Amino acid sequence: MRSLLTDSAARAIAYLEGLNARPVAPMAIDRLDELDKPLADQPTPPEEVLRELDEIGSPATMAMAGPRFFGFVIGGALPVTLAANWLAGAWDQNSALYNVTPATAQLERIALEWLVSLFGLPAGTGGGFVTGATMANFTALAAARYGLLERVGWNVANDGLFGAPPITVIVGQEAHVTLLKTLSLLGLGRNRVVRVPADRQGRLRAEALPPISGPTLICAQAGNVNSGAFDPLADIGAHARANGAWLHVDGAFGLWAAAVPEMAHLTDGLAGADSWAVDCHKWLNVPYDSGVAFVRDSDTLRAAMAITAEYLPTASHERNPSDFAPELSRRGRGVEVWAALRALGVEGVRDLIRRTCGHARRFAAELEAAGYEVLNDVVLNQVIVAFGDAATTSRVVAGIQADGTCWCGPTVWQGRTAMRISVSSWATTDEDVTRSLAAMLRVARAVA
Ligand SMILES: *Cc1c(COP(=O)(O)O)cnc(C)c1O
Repeated sequence: MRSLLTDSAARAIAYLEGLNARPVAPMAIDRLDELDKPLADQPTPPEEVLRELDEIGSPATMAMAGPRFFGFVIGGALPVTLAANWLAGAWDQNSALYNVTPATAQLERIALEWLVSLFGLPAGTGGGFVTGATMANFTALAAARYGLLERVGWNVANDGLFGAPPITVIVGQEAHVTLLKTLSLLGLGRNRVVRVPADRQGRLRAEALPPISGPTLICAQAGNVNSGAFDPLADIGAHARANGAWLHVDGAFGLWAAAVPEMAHLTDGLAGADSWAVDCHKWLNVPYDSGVAFVRDSDTLRAAMAITAEYLPTASHERNPSDFAPELSRRGRGVEVWAALRALGVEGVRDLIRRTCGHARRFAAELEAAGYEVLNDVVLNQVIVAFGDAATTSRVVAGIQADGTCWCGPTVWQGRTAMRISVSSWATTDEDVTRSLAAMLRVARAVA
C-alpha cells in the first residue's frame, strides 16, 4: 500500500508541475482507445493500473488545474484543498450522520457558518453540501417547494404535486439552463415558468416582473454565466417580500462578489432572499464536485431533505449532513471547503476574487485596444469578445484552442457569436494573461 500511494502522489505532483509547459487542450486522445478492452478475467496489479491511468489518462486531460484554462467559470484546486482531499479520501468517511462521522460533520458545520458570514447571509441560515450549483439549486428549490406549499396547507413531501395548489414560477430570460433543469426535476416544469425579459447585460428587468398572487417562486441570478451580470436583487426582493413570494438566488459564482467590500454593491439585497446556491468548485478553487445550498429557514430545508430509519443513528443534537442534502451516503465534501477557507482567510478569498477580476479587465482592455469588440460590461471575471462576424470568431476560437497556450470556449451572446473568457483560477498570474493575450492576438491576426 505504501509504495502504491507514494507512487500515486509522485505522479500527481509531476502532473501538476508539468501543466505550465504543456498545451492546455488534451493531447494524445487517440491513446484513450487503449483503455477500451474487455474486462479482464484475472486481476491486474495495482501499480500497473495506476501506471496505465497516468500514462494514457494524464496526457488526455484538459489542463483545467493549470493557470490558462478560461473555458468555463472554474478554477483549479488550490494545493491545500487537493491535499485535504487526499487525506479525506484516506479517511473514507460516509459523512451522513454526526454520531458516526463526527470529524467530517463538524468540519461541514463550521465551513457552512463561515460561508454564511462571508456572504453576509442571515445568521442561522441552514445549508447542505452538494455536488455543485445544479444540485444546490435543486436542493434549495425543493425547500422552496416544500415551504410555499406548507403555507397553504399542503405537504408536498407526503402527498406529492398531483392535486397540489399550483406554484407560479418566475425566472429571468437569462436563467442558467441547469436552473431550468432543476425545475423540471422538481415537477415544476421547464416551460410552465413565467419568463421575465432581461436587459443588454442579461439582467432580469425588475420593472417587468408580473403581479403576484398565490404561492410564487422567483428565481434570480447573481452572475450571468456569459456576462457575469447580476440581477437587481434588491428590487426583485422588495417585490417578492411585498407579495409573500419565495426568492431564490442562483449565485453559482457571483455569490463570491458578496465577500469583497468594493464589489458587494453588485449583490445588494442578497440577504433579503430566502435561498441561495453557490459553487465551491468554481471560484473557491476546491476539487470537484462541490457546491452549497443555503436556505434561510433551516427547518424548511431539513423538512424537505431529512429521513429517519431504525438502523440509522440520527438522534443527535449535532448537525447531520444528510438532513440537509438529497444524499444519504456521501463523502464529506465540506472538508476541502473548510481547508480552502481556513488557508485563505477572509482576505485570501477577497484577494482571489479581486485578482481574477483584474485579469478579466485586462483581457477586455487589451482585446478592445487591439480593435476587437467586447460585448459585455466587465463587472466580474467574465469577458465576451467577438473577433468579427460569426465565421471569423468561430475560426479564431478554434485556432486559440489548437494553439494550446490557453483555452477559451465559444458562446452566442444576444445573437452574436463570441468567445468567452472566464478567469477563475488561483493559479493565473499576470504573466499567464500576457502569454494568453499574445496567443489570442496572434491567432486572430492570422485568421484575419
Ligand atoms: C455553473 C453554473 C451552474 C451550474 O453549476 P454546476 O456546478 O455545473 O452544477 C448554475 N448556475 C450558474 C449561474 C452557473 O454559472
